[in-house]
Amino acid sequence: MTDLPSSLPSEYHRRLPYGERLSAAPLIGQPFFPFEGDVQVVELAEPVIPEPPRNGEEGGKPCPKCADPDQSVIWRDDQWALKVFEPSGLPLVALLEPHQHYRLDNLPPELTATLGPIIQRVAKAIQSLDSVGRTHFNRWGDGSEHFHVWFLARPLGMMQLRGAQIAAWDDLLPKIPVEEFTANARQVAAALAKDGGEALGA
Ligand SMILES: [Zn+2]
Repeated sequence: MTDLPSSLPSEYHRRLPYGERLSAAPLIGQPFFPFEGDVQVVELAEPVIPEPPRNGEEGGKPCPKCADPDQSVIWRDDQWALKVFEPSGLPLVALLEPHQHYRLDNLPPELTATLGPIIQRVAKAIQSLDSVGRTHFNRWGDGSEHFHVWFLARPLGMMQLRGAQIAAWDDLLPKIPVEEFTANARQVAAALAKDGGEALGA
């Protein structure tokens, strides 16, 4: 272990083995873990405090959503927009954002009130794809300050793709063809627009 600053913020931080490689054993053989064999864990990095600014935070890069609000948007209403990017390994990966620049902790009541219903609508719209068994959604927020929720379509019957490792599988699986990606995005946008808002060209 390296010489640690005494300014580490908590007992939790002071206990960790910075610079060491932890064992991958707890994950190997787990039903949702996509790797086997000799998996090497990266060295545990020391904490960076204060944390570097995210996109959209003071001192960070500009917020990509505010810099180009309509970029990649396939559906929108007066509060929310849904984006897709490019073909990946899953039938669809989509991003839901409010038009205005808020974080989760300062999202105003009129947006928190519609957050549940819009998550339900997006999940249902993605689920309408015949390749999809379940729609996962996640809010991480480590890249951009602008509040956003990721939606990841889990292919029907693909039980290895259950749980959080679906994000890794999205990178591992062969990319779907562009035509299929565009058709999936259009179908999701149209399904959403049936209950309000407008579908935009995908
Ligand atoms: Zn923003």
